[in-house]
Amino acid sequence: MHEYSNIMLTEDEKFMKEAIKLAKKASAAGEVPIGCVIVKDGKIIGRGYNRRNTDRSTLSHAEMNAIKKASSYLHDWRLEECTMYVTLEPCQMCAGACIQARIPRVVIGCLSPKSGSCGTVASILGNEAFMHTCEIESGVLADECSAVLKEFFIRMRAEKKALDQAYK
Ligand SMILES: [Zn+2]
Repeated sequence: MHEYSNIMLTEDEKFMKEAIKLAKKASAAGEVPIGCVIVKDGKIIGRGYNRRNTDRSTLSHAEMNAIKKASSYLHDWRLEECTMYVTLEPCQMCAGACIQARIPRVVIGCLSPKSGSCGTVASILGNEAFMHTCEIESGVLADECSAVLKEFFIRMRAEKKALDQAYK
């Protein structure tokens, strides 16, 4: 009955929507769609999306790019009062970077069964043995986050099939 509007969204959902927008930007560039924003005092101070192929860099994950932007905005490597919103559960590298950046809270869209390092494959984020710990909230707009990934892989398979047939 009611249209799905921003007015009905919680604060976490509102920022996750922004991360989803970035994931779609990655998808449009032919990159696996993962998006990330970093928020401080209710304001987005860093945006990032997966650009691994574009940048030809292992380091160019959405979270790493957002951390770089947030740090240059704050002129500080410490992101102590920030919240990260990311569409897919961070990998071991990005979970490690969150700890190194001292990010106190990470909000995750959907879980990653193959590389999730915030409880799924490993518990790097959320491991209380580390000096800096981080609060994790997962499942925020999870269906929407995973739909963007699924659509991307369906499109890639279809494109590959079309290409294979063209050369038969
Ligand atoms: Zn990563």
